[in-house]
Formats: sequence, structure tokens, C-alpha cells
Amino acid sequence: MAATLKIDHARYVITVDAGRRIIADGAILVEGQRITRVGKAAELADVRADRVIDARRMVVTPGFVNGHMHISYAHCVRGIFPDDVGSPLKTVFALQNAMTEEEEYHTTLLGLLELVKNGNVCFLDPGSTKFPDACLQAYQDAGIRVVIGECVIDRDSPLALPRYPTAEAIARTAAYVKKWDGRLDGRMRAWAMPFSAETCTTELLQAAKRIADETGTGLTLHHNSGAQARKDAQAQHGHTPTGYLESIGVLGGNVCLAHVLGIDDSEIDTIARTGTAVAMCPSTAAKGGRGVPEHGRMPELLAKGVSVALGCDSPNNSNYLDIVRAMNMAAVQYKDARQDMRLIPAESAIEMATRLGAQALGVPEIGAIEAGKKADLVLFDTERPEWQAMFNPVNNLVYNADGRSIHTVVIDGRVVVDAYRQSFVDESRLFAKVQELGEGLLARTKTAVPKGRWPVQ
Ligand SMILES: [Zn+2]
Repeated sequence: MAATLKIDHARYVITVDAGRRIIADGAILVEGQRITRVGKAAELADVRADRVIDARRMVVTPGFVNGHMHISYAHCVRGIFPDDVGSPLKTVFALQNAMTEEEEYHTTLLGLLELVKNGNVCFLDPGSTKFPDACLQAYQDAGIRVVIGECVIDRDSPLALPRYPTAEAIARTAAYVKKWDGRLDGRMRAWAMPFSAETCTTELLQAAKRIADETGTGLTLHHNSGAQARKDAQAQHGHTPTGYLESIGVLGGNVCLAHVLGIDDSEIDTIARTGTAVAMCPSTAAKGGRGVPEHGRMPELLAKGVSVALGCDSPNNSNYLDIVRAMNMAAVQYKDARQDMRLIPAESAIEMATRLGAQALGVPEIGAIEAGKKADLVLFDTERPEWQAMFNPVNNLVYNADGRSIHTVVIDGRVVVDAYRQSFVDESRLFAKVQELGEGLLARTKTAVPKGRWPVQ
């Protein structure tokens, strides 16, 4: 018999199910890895379970999906860039290249800790992890779902990205997917991850898509457009950047484009028509001054039925790994950018972080609280000032709360955060270790830490 877990008398269950029901005084039964019953507590009153969590003060949501999250780097040098140095990307990639296996393992652990405690049950790392063998144990211990891959390029780039001859880049991608897909009891998926259309040849992009198709996996790449990119794509390929991807057969239901700023109406149509998903990173766009008023098209993508995931990107771009804050940013930034309060309602923000994000990452078995789904759940503690007073838990979640009120997290039926505590890492020791590794990495690479504007005495 599978172990059973009952979440009982939840103040509210925000199901994000097909009917988008919110159940007051709700109950959820988990058997093994799956949700088997959801309803009013009274309906499940006779149900016994191996463990019962009293959720009287909790708001329960599906586990959150992070669609673009560079897990393995930058945490040990997070926040070194002041606001006025311009794009830090060159330094970021140089530091990533210099990281050792030990450094990557510990920074990954820190990333996982922050993700899990903030209710992220699944994330996609767009190919940053260099030492997956070393990090496998960390994923296993954290209990999280992960979509990984190897970032490859085969063209010149000003960024220090891993460049290979085309045939080698293709072979590495195929070998990586074959080795890693389906591990961790199915919680690990491996995708093809060419960095971007600008840094990869048509041959590599098409081969990556073929690998995704043949193995039943997926493909992600960074995709930004805008005036200059459109001019370049037109000159080189006779298409918009998105039109070019369609013309070479590199769009579809198993493709997730990241960032996706600066696309025009025809590109939105192309994305919707081909069933392509996107992952947008609201805080990266805002902090990087990427011009959401001019370039952001999240409302139009959602209106066309595109599966839009939210992402937190990287600790030097975003810099937090809290999808609740990302939901808030998504919900407020378009209202301001276009001076229209109706844009991206709180419900849409939650959908992107759950149901739509799960579709975008090819994990439809999560993203909603309904019988038959995998048991990935987040319990928010509402006995905190920011949750008062409550008349609409959706608004409280998106506009008042952040990840710090997350009390309990369940992934695949396993309680991985239990009353604010996780058990896979000694937090104090890890924090000291990461600080030490960050200082060592900066010294070894002779990276000058830009001085802040205020004197430190
Ligand atoms: Zn990225």
C-alpha cells in the first residue's frame, strides 16, 4: 500500500483545475505520488491517512514551475554588480566558465534551497550546469523536478559560451539527452538546449529539434527580437526572428522560447499557431531595463492561448529565486507600462506559475490540484500580517505575499519542506561555504568587484 497524506480543513485550496475552483475548508488526499481526491473537508471526513496536516490556517496552491532559471552559477557572486555598470553578461559567463565542480555543486545546492523553500517544485535550467554528475545528488536530495540540458553553440559569440564544431555540438546534445532524460524516478527531463538562433547555425538548430522530436523531449533557446534583431534576421534569412525559426522547422509544442521580448504581431501569431511555449522573466526584464512598455507582449501571448511560463533567470539578473515575487512583478508591470489596470490579472499570474508553466515545460502531470495529478503542493501560512485581512486569497497571494510565508511544500507526494524546515542541507554551513567559494572564485579569476557607491568602513 502506498503511503497516504491528507491535507485537511485548508482555509482555501486554489486548485487551478479545469473549472479554476477555489475550495473553502478544503481537503486533499494524496496516495503515493498522486492526488486521488480533492473536495470539501466534510466530503473527505471519513478518509484516514498515514499523515494528516491540519491546514486550517493555510492557503494551498499547486507547486510552482520556474520556466527559465540558471541554477548553477552566480549564487556565490550574487549581487556583485552595481546598477550602473551596464550589462554584466560578459563577466557572468566568464565566471561561470571558471567554476569548478565543487563550486557548482554548492551553488546549485543554494539555488535548490531557495527554490524549494519558495515553493518551486520544477525548474528548467537552460543549459548552464557543467557538472550534472556532481549535481545529481543535490537534485535527488532536494526532491525537486528538473529540466536540464547542455548549452551549446557553433557560431562566434561575444559571450564566453561553450562553442563546438557543429557535428560535435549535435553529438553532445544527443548524448546528453540520452544519458539524463527520465532519471530521478522520472523527475528529471533532459532537453536540447542550443543557446540562441544568433549563436547557432541552422544545421545545429534543426538537429536539436530532431533530437527533441525523436526522443519525446523538448528544446529551449533564448529568443529576443526587437528592431535590430528583426533587421538582422531579415537580411540574413528573409524572415522575422520567429519566422526564421518556423521556416527551418524549429517551433512546435515541444519548444519553449525564453524571454521573448520585442516580438511583433506576426511573431505572436506564429508562436500561437505552432503551439510553441514561452518562458518570460518579468524581474529580469524590469531590472535590466529591457523596455517592457515597448517590447513586452505577455498580454497578447496569453490572449492567443500560448503557454506562458514565468522564470527567475539568474541571480545576477533577477536576483531572486522566488516565483511568488515574479508573479507579483508580472501582474503589476504591464498595468504600469500600458497604464491599464486590467492587464495580467492576479489569476493569470498564478496560472503562469502553475498550470501554464507545467504545459510549457512538458510536465502536464503537475500544475493543478485535481485527482490524477502528481502531488505537488504548496501550503502558505496565513497567520502572518501580510495575509490579513483575507476576502480573496488570489489577491492576497499575488499582491500581498511572497515566498517567505510558505510553510510546507510537497513534491511527488513527499513533504520536502515541513513547517518551514527542509532536511537536505545544513543551511548555516552551506551559507558559509558559498561565501568562501564566491570570494575564492573572484580572486582566482581576478574579477574586480565593482565598488558600491557608498563607502564601506
Ligand atoms: Zn537564460
